[in-house]
Amino acid sequence: MLANYTRSAKALSDLLQREGVEDTQVLSAIANIPRHVFIDDVLQHKAYENTALPIGQGQTISQPYIVARMTELLRLAGVRNKVLEIGTGSGYQTAILAKTFTKIYSVERIKALQWQAKRRLHQLDLYNVSMKHGDGWQGWQSQAPFDGIIVTAAASKVPKDLLAQLADGGVLLAPIGESDQKLIMVIRNGDDYTEHVIAPVRFVPLVPGDIE
Ligand code: SAH
Repeated sequence: MLANYTRSAKALSDLLQREGVEDTQVLSAIANIPRHVFIDDVLQHKAYENTALPIGQGQTISQPYIVARMTELLRLAGVRNKVLEIGTGSGYQTAILAKTFTKIYSVERIKALQWQAKRRLHQLDLYNVSMKHGDGWQGWQSQAPFDGIIVTAAASKVPKDLLAQLADGGVLLAPIGESDQKLIMVIRNGDDYTEHVIAPVRFVPLVPGDIE
């Protein structure tokens, strides 16, 4: 199975390019990461479609377009090295980040998903990722500061702890809102945080508090 995906992944990458993704590093990551590895057996036939899919535990693997676009936005903002991801989920976005940036830290609140994602990344020989089972609202203080922070679940407001863990000049991307969500970008300059609204989006909620 692993060997046969290359044509489908390349076709997905070409589709995303037609939809407006331009960053060659991101397009190459999409073409080289087997998305079917991150998806349950019964949904394998949809693995290379440009759509979000259920991954169990009431969660979803994000649509490839949004994965690519958010990764591209971080690169356009100058991020290259250290990235924190909140909401590991299937691990697919994590794998794309691992191919695009130097070092990834990823936090997931559901232990079963975190464990499964870890196994998948090792299967793909991606070793520049550290994962933590924890509450994303708190970020990952001991590894801060981060050049980029990407949140893949929607919060009612930007978690304060995440803003504090941005490096000076760092960039945070997060979906904000409940039924009406917007992807926002926050750029840190010293104690100043500048917010830009990027686009309407649809993500599962960033759950407050406890971990499972
Ligand atoms: N990028 C992932 C998206 C998964 S959906 C993918 O494409 O597979 C969002 C994920 O965020 C879910 O796995 C959910 O369990 C996780 N999540 C929700 N609230 C969280 C929180 N407070 N802390 C950490 N992870 C959280």
